[in-house]
Parts: sequence; structure tokens; C-alpha cells
Amino acid sequence: MRVELSGTHFPLETLGPGRRLGIWLQGCRLACAGCMSRHTWAPHEGESVDVATLLDLWDAALADGAEGLTVSGGEPLDQPAALAELLRGAARLRSAHPRHGSAVDGLPADLLVYTGYEESELDASRHAALAHADAVVAGRFRIAEPTRLVWRGSANQRLAPRTALGRIRYAPHLDREADGPAVQIVVTPAGPAGPPAVRLLGVPRRGELSHWERWLGARGLRLRERSWRP
Ligand code: SF4
Repeated sequence: MRVELSGTHFPLETLGPGRRLGIWLQGCRLACAGCMSRHTWAPHEGESVDVATLLDLWDAALADGAEGLTVSGGEPLDQPAALAELLRGAARLRSAHPRHGSAVDGLPADLLVYTGYEESELDASRHAALAHADAVVAGRFRIAEPTRLVWRGSANQRLAPRTALGRIRYAPHLDREADGPAVQIVVTPAGPAGPPAVRLLGVPRRGELSHWERWLGARGLRLRERSWRP
């Protein structure tokens, strides 16, 4: 099955506990004001890949000690069938993988999904897509409701465990405020795919994007396009 993809990164350390594989799906119709990922809105401006390709990445990440998988976007639940296949396969690989325990807490790798939809907006196909998710961060990003809650962009967003593993792993974090870096900076040098790019991965606190823009500028990196501005 094909899936519209915005990007991937390993190790991701700012969207969930531990070192994780991050997968960002392409396409979002929710258009939250202040969204930092406007480049993920158009449904066909990413890359079309096979779910099996992403599962190969997950398999490699597990072999490299991944403690979890984070699927974000874009809006993952706008591709419910592909998300269901991805999470089903990720859960199977996690069980089959010879390395089971996280370096952080000894638990198996968990599966976390970010969605802008509220629980009340989940129809049957979206519910089915989340069948193997251990936890979900749900709700629109509301720029007028800043928060310091870890891994959430606004105070209305809920971190909801959905499985026994999710309840154990995320219990310490449900009301925890961020105490480390909220954003991870990844620089991709110029190459055949295009000019150099800077990716800010995570959930920045209020004013943090402008701070990093100035920080990069002071080091000679001037951003020509910014995914958080219209
Ligand atoms: S914050 Fe998330 S749900 Fe809202 S527009 Fe951006 S990608 Fe979509």
C-alpha cells in the first residue's frame, strides 16, 4: 500500500520518550493558525512510498536501539488505511525483533501518533487506524493556548495512552512539563535533491522558532523559506 510521506528521521528525541523513529505523513486539511508544518498541508507535495519501505526503516531503527515510533504530519488520520497497515506492521516487527527492552525503562518500543482530530471526530476508519497505537496526542494546535506540557503544542492537546504498554510508558509524562530541549535541529547539506535544508523537529515553545531563526542567522544560515509562515 502506498502512503504520502513528508519525511523521516532517526534518532528523533523530541516527540516522545527515548530515541525514536519519526515518520511525518503528508497532507493536512485542518489548517491550524500558527502551524509550524505548513509544508505538510498539500496532500501530494511529498513523496509517495510503499508502507513496506517505512517498515524497513522501522526494522533498522529497532536494530539500532529505537525506543519508539512517532507518526506525525501532516495529518496521519487522513490516510487511515495506510496508517493502519504501518502501525500493524510496526507492532509485529517490535514483537518479532530480538531486542525488546528500552534503554530508558526496559519496556518494548512504543507506537505514538499525533493527530489534530479530537476523539469525538474519529470515525470507524480512523478508530481502526489507531488499533495498534500505544498512545495518541490529539487535538488541534491552538496558538492562543500555549503550554509547557511535554510533547504538546497547546494546552488543549491531550496525551492519551491506549494500551497497557502506553499506560505504563506515558504515565510519568501525562502532566509533566518539558525540562529539556523541545526542538531538535537537523541540517541536510546541499545535494542532488536540492539546496541545504534545516529541519526543526519537535514542539517549539512560544517564541522558540524566532529564537532558532536568529541563532541560525548568527551562524551564517539564512532561511529562504519557513514552513511556519504563510
Ligand atoms: S498543527 Fe497539525 S493538525 Fe494543525 S494544521 Fe498543522 S499539521 Fe495540521
